[in-house]
Amino acid sequence: MKKIKIISASFIMIISTLTYTQVKLTASWQSTETNYYDISGDKLSDIYNKLEGKLGSGTCEGFLNYGRDYNYKQNNNIITELTIYPKCIITLPKWSNYSSAGQQCKSHFDKVVEALKNHENGHCKLVKKVIGDLENYLKNNQVKTNEISNLLNSYAEKLNDEYKSYDSQTDHGRKDVSFDNIPNECK
Ligand SMILES: [Zn+2]
Repeated sequence: MKKIKIISASFIMIISTLTYTQVKLTASWQSTETNYYDISGDKLSDIYNKLEGKLGSGTCEGFLNYGRDYNYKQNNNIITELTIYPKCIITLPKWSNYSSAGQQCKSHFDKVVEALKNHENGHCKLVKKVIGDLENYLKNNQVKTNEISNLLNSYAEKLNDEYKSYDSQTDHGRKDVSFDNIPNECK
């Protein structure tokens, strides 16, 4: 009999944990923006020397909340719903001399930019991952209205850490991008 009582007590505890209403997070994504910066040179080999020397030939700025304030609903200063406006801004190189380049050179450059783009999209996926982590946190924790700002800042720091480890794994995208096998006509 004693055992049964213990079981029912723990059962009640589980129920009370599950019904502990927490914050509903809405991530209202703003469309990804892609910007280009000019890089000039007649030969692809010159362009790639410039790009390889740069730490970020492409960049991806990720924001948990961009351009406007987050919104929330609260009950007795406890947050019940939170809406954030995440965004990614990607920057890629644009070869100024592209239009006058030969077809093989254009294709090679396109592949490099595509690989850079994939690397930067990888950063954007990290924004999604961190928002998923935040969503899980909010499901299981109570947050007061005066705590949101610090909480979002701490998740922005987590995102920063994710960015750093992704870049150290990929050597800032250099491992994802091949500047090799440049066609002879582009050297
Ligand atoms: Zn990177």
